[in-house]
Amino acid sequence: MNSAQWIAKADKYIMKTYGRYPLVPVRGEGCTLWDADGKKYLDFLAGVAVNNLGHCHPSVVKALQHQASQLIHCSNYYHIPQQIELAEILCSHCFADKAFFCNSGAEANEAAIKLARRYSREKYGADRYEIITAISSFHGRTMATVSATGQEKVQKFFDPLLHGFRHVPFNDAKALRDAVSPLTCAIMLEPIQGEGGVVVPSAEYFQEVRKICDENGLLLIFDEVQVGMGRTGKLFAHEHFGITPDIMTLAKALAGGAPIGTMLATDKIAEAFTPGTHGSTFGGNPLVTAAGVATVRAILEEGILNRCEEMGEYLMGELEALGKRYSCIKEVRGIGLMIGVELNIAGGDIVKKALERGLLLNCAQEKVLRFVPPLTVTKQEVNEMIKILEELLIETEK
Ligand code: PMP
Repeated sequence: MNSAQWIAKADKYIMKTYGRYPLVPVRGEGCTLWDADGKKYLDFLAGVAVNNLGHCHPSVVKALQHQASQLIHCSNYYHIPQQIELAEILCSHCFADKAFFCNSGAEANEAAIKLARRYSREKYGADRYEIITAISSFHGRTMATVSATGQEKVQKFFDPLLHGFRHVPFNDAKALRDAVSPLTCAIMLEPIQGEGGVVVPSAEYFQEVRKICDENGLLLIFDEVQVGMGRTGKLFAHEHFGITPDIMTLAKALAGGAPIGTMLATDKIAEAFTPGTHGSTFGGNPLVTAAGVATVRAILEEGILNRCEEMGEYLMGELEALGKRYSCIKEVRGIGLMIGVELNIAGGDIVKKALERGLLLNCAQEKVLRFVPPLTVTKQEVNEMIKILEELLIETEK
């Protein structure tokens, strides 16, 4: 079947939950995707910051193939070596002592919300349940994470939302401090807002946030679902800001594209989960955690973080140069290979035309072009992308 035939069939059988671009991907390698018609694409979206190692990294493919031949799933016994190994590697590289595994970013955030509430209730009493999050934040599509999310378009008509979430402006420590009340149990933030349009707050803001938490006995939850796993040139984005959270969630890039999520916490907080309090049938199963171990090892052992930093600087420089030449570019911002280009106009047309020319991008908050390529992207691929983008900017400004 060709792409048009697949798309016609999708219209018949697949619910229209996403505004999908007319692309039918069938194969990927590195930064390249091929569609069902054999057309080649340069992928600067990477499954929205999922394929950090590029599509089908050989170590991830090998781990999946090997594990599939040994044991795919076995839950409830939960002493799964691959899961234990992944938890050990992650904990040895951050503040956390223990991990809980699930299947997506939303589920990891659900777990974080539940753990924070249980911990705070046990420690301080029944009234401590409120979680403060940021306006324009995105935390997922389940009911609790929709309630945590600070975007009305994500929440519309799904109300009544969950009780106990309060939203304040991002990167504004005073607003946060003012919102804290005796009901507050935690503050939940993305270190860099992704869906919110690649918004990078200051290190001072996060230092102040940590202080507010410490002074009030609040837990700090970092949602690193989009920015973790090397995306910013460090394994975890909060490393840029000189503070650590109490709970951190990861998903997306953690297992090279296999569906996984994890919620990490210190021992003291993790103790609030006891047998029977939370769970997931597929969470941390042997197949995805084997892919996770291979992914994290590759990130740490193949110089991916340095490469990300280097290519991030290069890409940022090239985009800033375009920003000087084309007035429709308002601002270029980001860290590592998490880069947003804010336009003075809506970006949807550029994204659509880029797709026609074989370049995959997307647009957050209507005006922010998002560049989140595989961290293995080459200089040549960046140059190729910039060439297409410049042609589109020329057309746009005609
Ligand atoms: N948190 C953040 C910061 C995200 O960017 C996303 C996905 N865009 C999620 C949570 C939800 O992840 P998932 O789609 O895996 O549920």
